[in-house]
Amino acid sequence: MVELAEESNISSLWSSLKESLFPPLCELCGKGAKSFVSLCDACQHGVLPLPKSHCLCCAQPFISQETRAHLCSVCLKEKPSFTKVFSPFLMEGSIQRLLHQVKFGSQISTVQVLAQLAAPSFKKAVQEFLPDLLLPVPLSRLRLLRRSFNQSVLLSKELLSASSLDLDLDFSIGRRYQRPQAQKKRADRLKALGGAFSFRKPKSFEGLKILIVDDVLTTGATAEALTRLCLKARAREVGVWVLARRA
Ligand SMILES: [Zn+2]
Ligand SMILES: [Zn+2]
Repeated sequence: MVELAEESNISSLWSSLKESLFPPLCELCGKGAKSFVSLCDACQHGVLPLPKSHCLCCAQPFISQETRAHLCSVCLKEKPSFTKVFSPFLMEGSIQRLLHQVKFGSQISTVQVLAQLAAPSFKKAVQEFLPDLLLPVPLSRLRLLRRSFNQSVLLSKELLSASSLDLDLDFSIGRRYQRPQAQKKRADRLKALGGAFSFRKPKSFEGLKILIVDDVLTTGATAEALTRLCLKARAREVGVWVLARRA
């Protein structure tokens, strides 16, 4: 017992020494943070949650925060094939800066901070939707070669460990390279995405509930194209979880 007590004293002494030598710093601005995987208070304030008033299906935030839960005009006109989009944050402020740091600054360790911030929402979505599989949105080979990592795969892995969930990840789908689509409207994006996703080998998702995981949702065209492929492979239902929704 005495030995154990001595050991724990030494380890707490070591961690306080480590903290005074290398204090935890904010992942965004480098100022002091409370823990090693976190943001300072100012950057934490810049994390904007998805407003409570948003489309029941695609999570598009509504301008008026008074309205009752309903579908947006886009989903009313043509209901997407996926059941629902879960998203904890808006693609603005600190979340946007952290994601840019990952995607364009190749700062992969930042994914851990994003996963810590999103873990409670992710766990709640999994408990509500009860997926059998997680499907990170694939990147084309060319984009994967240029970036050297797929942020949706990294995010899925970190989310699973940060939320202590045990779910399988599916990597059976490949993606054809396309030029960036950011400026196009939803219908044009969807048309351009026709046939962009395909199975590497013939595969059935017979009877499975699939949760697609991506970093950001803009028009929902990517999620729609991937959902259609899953449903064609006989999936029972498809949901979408994204870190951030573009307003
Ligand atoms: Zn900061
Ligand atoms: Zn909608």
